[in-house]
Amino acid sequence: MKFLLETYGCQMNRADADRIRTDLSNSGFTEIEKNEIPDIIILLSCSVRQHAVERLHGRLWSLANIKRIKPELKFVLVGCLAQEKKSDLFDKYPFLNLVIGTDQINLVADLIIRNYNGLYTVQHNENIPLNSFKLTRSDPFKADIPIMRGCNNFCTYCIVPYVRGRERSRCKEEIIKEIDNLPETTKEILLLGQNVNSYIFDNLSFSELLDLISKKYNNLRIRFLTSHPKDLDLKTIEVMASNDNICKHIHLPIQSASDRILELMNRKYTFSEFDKKVEQLKKFIPSISLSTDIIAGFPSETEEDFLKSLNSISHFGFCSAFTYKYSPRNGTKASEFINQIPEEIRKERLKRLIQEVEKEVILQTQKQIGKKSKVLLEGKSHYGNTCMGRDEANRVIHIKNVENLIGEVIEVKITSSSGWNLYGDLIPE
Ligand code: SF4
Repeated sequence: MKFLLETYGCQMNRADADRIRTDLSNSGFTEIEKNEIPDIIILLSCSVRQHAVERLHGRLWSLANIKRIKPELKFVLVGCLAQEKKSDLFDKYPFLNLVIGTDQINLVADLIIRNYNGLYTVQHNENIPLNSFKLTRSDPFKADIPIMRGCNNFCTYCIVPYVRGRERSRCKEEIIKEIDNLPETTKEILLLGQNVNSYIFDNLSFSELLDLISKKYNNLRIRFLTSHPKDLDLKTIEVMASNDNICKHIHLPIQSASDRILELMNRKYTFSEFDKKVEQLKKFIPSISLSTDIIAGFPSETEEDFLKSLNSISHFGFCSAFTYKYSPRNGTKASEFINQIPEEIRKERLKRLIQEVEKEVILQTQKQIGKKSKVLLEGKSHYGNTCMGRDEANRVIHIKNVENLIGEVIEVKITSSSGWNLYGDLIPE
């Protein structure tokens, strides 16, 4: 049987997609090639951001028409939206055959083979091990390695703790086994979790795990995502500073720069505490690049609160930022706050945030001209005989005449920039 797997939402879902894909292939299913017609359509859903939810609902409505033309087609919905809405989804989309929650990704192939129909979700109260088998990875050079699942923080706007459950860290042996099984072409790994800084397994902390992995795999470039500002500790910063193969980039979501809003968000840090963490990072790693997440229009946010967030972009010199318009998620505390901000104001603030981020990113990009940079060459660019890759801060860099080096980490001298893009020349060894 042939399957089509579509993934919505975050990096965690993309990592889960690789597991589902591998499990299906190992069970005799084949992923469709372009223009082939599948027997099964699997949608890996997200309910964290409104945009991903809307895209998914749009897709589900269009699939209803396909089901009318091809009634034998099987539809499977997996992930956060499935965990959140459960059997309500069958009322809205009666053509769905199977709805599977977030912690059962290892069972997708098995449930399909058993011709299971209906809802399959469990409570997230135990550490469900992820298989450490050799995964069919969608990227030949980069691999996401989940080190933990779930979150204990209950930020008032966020649905993750409800749909992905409490924090459960993976044991070191399982993580090592997964890295050992990576294809030889892998050059970069991303240690992944909703809040990696609170990783703990048998007294092994995140900083210890990071140190151990970077030393054991000193041929790999290492990143990690996502860090919570309140949990980023000095030891982790020291480990980053002392291991050359850990990218000197950190994604540190500020969400708001107003202390009043941060408290309402239950973020458990103030602006000045965030500022001090950044100071510490810059002291130990002067070349550090910072990226962030910022929400516009959280309930009760005043223009004064918003301006603090807006000004934080240049204050911290973020190299990139994911900006969002606040959208109430059912079941979260903030969705019940009475002073919701009207849609037009949220939209208008988001627009200003995006403009400010663009301005800052271009400024930060221009500052790279003349500098040397280590770039993982990912493939051909859209123009000419140019290839593209990413530096340690995840910035896109285009380089000429390096086709034979695709898949390698090369040293580049940055020569010019255009918008968010950088251009450079290979520095011969
Ligand atoms: S830290 Fe907060 S925003 Fe991040 S996943 Fe946990 S609850 Fe959500």
